[in-house]
Amino acid sequence: MMNGQWTRWIELEALKLGFDAVGFARAERLVDDEIRLTQWLKQDYHGNMRYMENHFDKRLDPRLLVEDAQTVITFIKNYYPEQLHFQSDYKISCYAYGQDYHDVIRNQLQQLIASMQSEIGNIQARGFVDSAPVLERSWAVRSGLGWVGKNGNLISKRKGSFFFIATLITDLALDYTNNPVADFCGTCTKCIDACPTDAILPNRTINGSHCISYYTIELKDALLETNKSWDNWIFGCDICQEVCPWNRFSTPHQEDSFKPLSELVQFSNKDWEELDEATFKQVFSKSPIKRSKFSGLSRNIAFIKNQSDKLKG
Ligand code: SF4
Ligand code: SF4
Repeated sequence: MMNGQWTRWIELEALKLGFDAVGFARAERLVDDEIRLTQWLKQDYHGNMRYMENHFDKRLDPRLLVEDAQTVITFIKNYYPEQLHFQSDYKISCYAYGQDYHDVIRNQLQQLIASMQSEIGNIQARGFVDSAPVLERSWAVRSGLGWVGKNGNLISKRKGSFFFIATLITDLALDYTNNPVADFCGTCTKCIDACPTDAILPNRTINGSHCISYYTIELKDALLETNKSWDNWIFGCDICQEVCPWNRFSTPHQEDSFKPLSELVQFSNKDWEELDEATFKQVFSKSPIKRSKFSGLSRNIAFIKNQSDKLKG
């Protein structure tokens, strides 16, 4: 088969495996991102996420991750749920409702690599999902899958932004998408206006170290008092996605592994407030929520409870 036919074949295989869209870009150094990333790190917008400083060159050049890399394939996988919030007031970012997406997507990428190797022959390929060495959003933009909105998320005109991004770097040459999507944020500022911690800066930069996702998941220290309500988010935050007009096109995902854990659906405020370590370990051992550890999640719950008690009082 010719490059173009393999491109189509890979796209169809990926869709069969459960990805929602696929794009192809030539593997080359991301020259434009170099300055942006350097500035972002210099401003310390990554807070204590020190892993963001690692692999600087590898992040910019996929050929340092796979020898003779020719192509970066980008996949998007919808996680928009049937129901956005459950009975408790405490809120969890909806990407974390089901099983850990790293495991689910890594498994699907491995299956795709195995089919490519058996159909195409001796090719090298490595899959990545949400891993520090790859600038997934930049590859997604280059592949024509969307634009990076003011809220820092990749946005697709047809699918919104509630999806994961994964990449596969291969030494197989394929056909590339040469039509980047225009930026359709226009004059909208809904995400900037809605962000409770002013983490979305006007110059298309996210101050990651001010984002509720950072505070509730990455930060290991005590949370500092603030007079702005965090709107009950105890793990991550979806505010800037929920207000984005492009997400009116989001449709529920079809991935069984992302269905919400029954405990998340059923937990009352009291269940969250009385959560103990044994229950945390039992319920969240395969969930993305385990990243915050019991100590982080219980700290977040106590912080939000204190905030809402003050607001009521
Ligand atoms: S996730 Fe929440 S806190 Fe972070 S930038 Fe978006 S609205 Fe702001
Ligand atoms: S809310 Fe508006 S400005 Fe923000 S990402 Fe969506 S379209 Fe762009």
